[in-house]
Amino acid sequence: MKPQTRKTYVSKTVAGLKPSGIRRFFDLASSMDGVISLGVGEPDFVTSWSIREASILSLEQGYTSYTANAGLLELRQEIAAYLRRKFHVDYCPETEILVTVGASQAIDLALRAIINPGDEVIIVEPSFVAYEPLVVLAGGKPVAVHTSGEDKFQLNPVHLERAITERTKAVIICSPNNPTGTVQSRTELEAIARLAEAHDLLVIADEIYAELTYEGEYTSMAAVSGMRERTILISGFSKGFAMTGWRLGFAAAPDEILQAMLKIHQYAMMCAPTMAQYGALEALRSGERDVAEMRNSYRRRRNYFVASLNEIGLPCHLPGGAFYAFPSIKPTGLTSEQFAERLLIEEKVAVVPGNVFGQSGEGYIRCSYASSLEQLQEAIKRMKRFLARL
Ligand code: PMP
Repeated sequence: MKPQTRKTYVSKTVAGLKPSGIRRFFDLASSMDGVISLGVGEPDFVTSWSIREASILSLEQGYTSYTANAGLLELRQEIAAYLRRKFHVDYCPETEILVTVGASQAIDLALRAIINPGDEVIIVEPSFVAYEPLVVLAGGKPVAVHTSGEDKFQLNPVHLERAITERTKAVIICSPNNPTGTVQSRTELEAIARLAEAHDLLVIADEIYAELTYEGEYTSMAAVSGMRERTILISGFSKGFAMTGWRLGFAAAPDEILQAMLKIHQYAMMCAPTMAQYGALEALRSGERDVAEMRNSYRRRRNYFVASLNEIGLPCHLPGGAFYAFPSIKPTGLTSEQFAERLLIEEKVAVVPGNVFGQSGEGYIRCSYASSLEQLQEAIKRMKRFLARL
């Protein structure tokens, strides 16, 4: 019998997802010589030696099997102690903490564990590019709430309330934010919390950049009164501990939700990589000083880079966290894609056009300042020359 021919084997859902807008630029940038990349969202530090050594030691000792599905109990205990110490939130290591393959997997699990077909999930834009496709893949409907440069990208609770419907299940917030660097103030978090309570919503709080907060004490959404029971706290080791390639993150959530996430994780992933978990254990035990040094270094580069952007005519608010500056390119009259493409071709500086982070990112570009000061100085020189020619 002749096999039936089909147009495609790919599911309609996957076929309908947009390819990542960041990708196109990086394919172009990597084909050119002499490019200064302010595009990638990762630390420019190598993971601290003590963390690497602990992981190597675990291999030498032969710890090469699976761990518990939820992750090494020792590591979950350290995570619980870390969350208590840093953010004043209490989680049970046995039932409320899950070690995941990056914060990425924790976000995916959170969404898959809570969404029924057609449930709406509110995404605060400009936002990290993975939220929308992950909501769609989980069978949900993404609903955007916009923030604006005039408000330094703080979420306006009135706008959030307008987006809530009968079908809203959760809100994803990210503080410090990728791509804007904005840290949600305690007042805003409290306003979001009151709405979550009033409408019985969950909050997925992506706090992966919490360690990279430059002013004042960080407030976790889970620490806001009444919110521990309706927050899925997402974090990990990639950014603060400079461990992107280790692929290690975690989620903390009330028992019922965390156990639902674990159910998916044990079938889909079994457990996070064992040697990476031993590295993370050391990171939590001895990494604090190195994290503080890296934070100070980012702060210095932020101060230089943001002041320089303003000086050359690209207005930029001083971001409170992460390692991104999100200047406005509106004075140039170009779209963010035109700006990024021309800057790359004419001056060999790679940045990310703001529109890839959602409609409210149009008119802005994302520049990562996790680059050496010399590279940042050279990038500013080239951007200044580019602007003068426009
Ligand atoms: N959330 C945000 C906001 C991010 O920027 C990133 C990484 N770019 C992630 C999650 C994923 O981090 P991980 O490496 O832990 O998967």
